[in-house]
Amino acid sequence: MSRRLRVAIVGGGLGGLAVAQALRGDAEIVILEQGSRFGEVGAGINMSPNAFKVLRELGLEEPLRRCAFQPERHVFRDWRSGRTLFCADIRSEYETSFGAPHLSVHRADLHEILAAALPKCEVRFQSRCVSVTQSEGSAVVHLDNGEEVEADVVIGADGIKSAVRESLYGKDEPEFTGNVAWRFTLPIEALSHAIEPAVTNWLGPGGHVVHYYVRRGQLVNVVAVRETAQWTAESWALKADREEMVHAFDGWNTHLRSMFAQADTCFKWGLFDRPPLARWSEGRVTLLGDAAHPMLPFLGQGAAMALEDGLMLGLLLSQDHRTIADRLSLYERLRLPRTARAQIGSRMRATENHLKSPVQRFIRNLKFKIRQHRNPKATLHKGEWLYVYDVREVLRAADI
Ligand SMILES: Cc1cc2nc3c(=O)[nH]c(=O)nc-3n(C[C@H](O)[C@H](O)[C@H](O)COP(=O)(O)OP(=O)(O)OC[C@H]3O[C@@H](n4cnc5c(N)ncnc54)[C@H](O)[C@@H]3O)c2cc1C
Repeated sequence: MSRRLRVAIVGGGLGGLAVAQALRGDAEIVILEQGSRFGEVGAGINMSPNAFKVLRELGLEEPLRRCAFQPERHVFRDWRSGRTLFCADIRSEYETSFGAPHLSVHRADLHEILAAALPKCEVRFQSRCVSVTQSEGSAVVHLDNGEEVEADVVIGADGIKSAVRESLYGKDEPEFTGNVAWRFTLPIEALSHAIEPAVTNWLGPGGHVVHYYVRRGQLVNVVAVRETAQWTAESWALKADREEMVHAFDGWNTHLRSMFAQADTCFKWGLFDRPPLARWSEGRVTLLGDAAHPMLPFLGQGAAMALEDGLMLGLLLSQDHRTIADRLSLYERLRLPRTARAQIGSRMRATENHLKSPVQRFIRNLKFKIRQHRNPKATLHKGEWLYVYDVREVLRAADI
């Protein structure tokens, strides 16, 4: 009997836990996480139908539905008047059109669901990877405490500042995109006015605001983005001054501003990304999620892409009739074009969301109207190509 594949996963974020799940005990797995426990910072996250399909494939549909909120609509609104610019029906349409619903979840809940369902594997906390080396027969993860972990395959799922990526391709800093975001959550009891059961995007000059319910409708998650020339640290955990946030949205709709004024604690961070890489895998080492393709959150696809990567990589690594190099190169070939398109698409959304000229905004809004009129089932972000994707179908179609 052949020995089980030993896989070291660097990073226990959403993507790292998804690949561990997808391997389903077909491999001997060690997860190396720099934190002292699994935990997700940040608050809300949208699971579009393509992300939902991954979680369903991993057997997590039921716990996900139990803790999520299913929005009715996806809406673009004018930043000042609140006028509807575009409205896509999520609840009644997505399941039929894309084979799965769209749900909004609290990141901590999603992370907990993934962690609770992990297959038997070794998890080492406070294990920060500093580099990865490899020889013909194995790859080695070097930790900051001097320990070394040897494996047949190493997966860098260590986020935007990936140490594994740096080992493969050298140091290059992520790019500040000129956008800063504030985020906070409000319990529904704290709301001074009713919030629609929708994923609502308010589009204004040089910024936009998104809000939606999470945790079965008990909390509203708010993310407010503003363009700025000033660089801000790339961290989700920087506490921010509420007054600065309110001031940054002077002149915006009063409903929004009253929500901002109710924020108890808010966080601020700079939004960074990188241009698409030409490759992700070298020998026995590969990347997934933000380590491979960090993107702006404006298509709501970063985690969805990390989950898709995780499922695809797990399924391919389980195919032990192929060499490791073949499995990793298939993974890269199948995933890279899609994630590159999402990276570029997310940047383009920033431009369209933040148009400053009233004339350009008028033309954009007119185009929304025409698109909606021509196709009442059109999605907000022209997201059909994103939502229809199904990892199993892709593998079947490629005869893999
Ligand atoms: C405001 C905002 C809103 C978003 N909304 C959405 C959304 O609605 N839908 C969506 O799909 N995506 C969304 N995203 C994107 C999504 O959050 C990320 O793309 C996703 O979390 C990436 O997952 P990951 O597992 O690749 O990396 P991460 O979640 O960053 O996890 C990396 C893990 O690796 C660990 N780690 C890091 N370095 C090391 C090291 N050297 N050694 C060991 N461990 C290490 C970290 O502690 C962490 O646990 C949003 C992002 C932002 C900023």
